Amino acid sequence: MSCLCDQCAALCCRYFALPIETPTTRKDFDDIRWYLCHENVAVFIEEKTWYVAVMNKCKHLQKDNRCGIYETRPKICRGYSTENCDYHGGDYGFEKLFTSAEQLWEYAQEQLKNARLKKKKKQGRKAATARRKPRLRITAEALANGRANGASSHNGQAGRNGNGIALPILNR
Ligand code: SF4
Ligand code: SF4
Repeated sequence: MSCLCDQCAALCCRYFALPIETPTTRKDFDDIRWYLCHENVAVFIEEKTWYVAVMNKCKHLQKDNRCGIYETRPKICRGYSTENCDYHGGDYGFEKLFTSAEQLWEYAQEQLKNARLKKKKKQGRKAATARRKPRLRITAEALANGRANGASSHNGQAGRNGNGIALPILNR
């Protein structure tokens, strides 16, 4: 029975790819840049996972593009399907593909800049929240003073705290 692999130059036996940690720091990106400084290496992102791919053919691939160890080939080879495989071309759903250190570095600069801006925004929001908190404390304090003033005032009248701010006197 004819198989799609009969028409193919064994594209899937000519590289391997491994998942790598998603880079978040300058050092992480620099490490990946180092991978890409090597010949026949590519890095890609697929479904948010980063991979390093080494474009090096399997040593068991024979001249006729058949597997030299077919009966004992690794499990990973057995699990590979002709459905949506390398034969079909296209971009395989890559979100990004880097074939040079320069490409990667350009992307890294952009990502690191965005991360810095995001961090700055977050810090700004935190600082704004922190600035608001003391005002809440003053209000609570003022309210307490108001209560204290209320002890010498009539119920239902406004009292004044130490800052001269009019405060409602709570009924007890
Ligand atoms: S699985 Fe796909 S890429 Fe691999 S040899 Fe068969 S047709 Fe070619
Ligand atoms: S072991 Fe065989 S099937 Fe697996 S990659 Fe090598 S040549 Fe291809």
